[in-house]
Amino acid sequence: MSGAVGSTELKQEVAVSGPIDNSAESIANLASLQIEVREGRSAEVGGMGIMRVLPTKRRRLIGPWCFVDLMSPDDVANPDPMEVGPHPHIGLSTVTWLFAGEALHTDSLGSEQVIRPGELNLMSAGHGIAHAELEVRPGSPEAEAGYVKGAQMWLAQPEATRHGGSSFAHHKDLPVADLDGGEAQVLAGTFAGSTSPVVSDWPVVGAELRLRTGPVETRIDPGFEHGVVPIDCRIRIDGVIAEPGSIAIIPAGFDRLSVETDTGPGRVMLLGGEPFPEQVQMWWNFVARTREELTQAWRDWQAHNDDRFIPVQSSLQRIAAPKPFWVKE
Ligand code: MN
Repeated sequence: MSGAVGSTELKQEVAVSGPIDNSAESIANLASLQIEVREGRSAEVGGMGIMRVLPTKRRRLIGPWCFVDLMSPDDVANPDPMEVGPHPHIGLSTVTWLFAGEALHTDSLGSEQVIRPGELNLMSAGHGIAHAELEVRPGSPEAEAGYVKGAQMWLAQPEATRHGGSSFAHHKDLPVADLDGGEAQVLAGTFAGSTSPVVSDWPVVGAELRLRTGPVETRIDPGFEHGVVPIDCRIRIDGVIAEPGSIAIIPAGFDRLSVETDTGPGRVMLLGGEPFPEQVQMWWNFVARTREELTQAWRDWQAHNDDRFIPVQSSLQRIAAPKPFWVKE
C-alpha cells in the first residue's frame, strides 16, 4: 500500500511507484463549475492489482489529497497476499482505509499496528519516514474476506509541516453519521454534522458513504474542492454518472451534493479539502516542491541514510528506489 510515481507521461510502471507529469497541472484550477469524471488506471503495487484514480490526467490534487489507490484483488481469482516491504516517504501523510481484510503496519517510529475495516491509519512523513505493510490472513486462504481491499491515500503536507518530524496515529472510533438513504463514516474533517478526531495538517474532509437506495443529499463546504470515488457501485452524482474505477471531481463552489447508487447498495469515498496553494512535485514515494529535493530523498534512501529514514522492523525486503529519470550519472 504505497504510492508510486513513474516518470514523464506515466511511462514508468515501477512497483510502489506512481505517475508523474510535472507539467501544467495548474490547469486544474481553471476548471469551471461543473462535475467532471476522470478514469483511473490500473497498476500493480506489492503484488496486488490496484486502481489509481488520483493523480489523473490534468489533475494532481483535490485539496491536499494527491494520491488515491484502490486495492482491488477482485480482479484476480486467488491474489497473492499484499506485501509492501520497507520503503520511504517524505512530505506527505498516508491515510489507510480498508473495506475488507487486515494488514499490519510497521514504521521507523517503532509503530506496529494491525488495521481492520472501519479503522484509519494516518502516518505523516515530514522530513522522512519508512514503513512496511503486510496483509494478515488469519483465516483460510480461500476466504474471500481475508483479502485486503481498501484505499491507500496521500495528503500533501504544507510547507509548515513537511520539513518536520514524522508521526503515526491509529483511529478505531470514527463517527458514523446517519444519512437519509445511507450512512457516512467520517474519516477526516466534518461531514453530515459529524467530526472526525483525526488531525490533519490542512483543512480536509474524508468520508465513506454507504448508500442504500435513492439519492443522498448532503451539504458540502463550498470552500473545498471534492472528489467522489465509487467503490463497488455505479453512481449518479448531480445527474452525472461515475463508474467504479473513476473519480468525479467537484470544483469549489458547490454547497450541496446529491449522490445516488445506480446499481444497488454500495460504497463511495468522498474526499475534499481547501484548495492547496503550493505546487507539489511527486516522484516515486516522495512529495516535495523541487527535483533537487526529490533527488536528495532518493540519494538518502539509496545510501541508507538511517538518520533520515530510520530502519523498519519487517520480515519483508527493503524496496530499492528507481533512479529518477532526470538524474544523469
Ligand atoms: Mn507507503
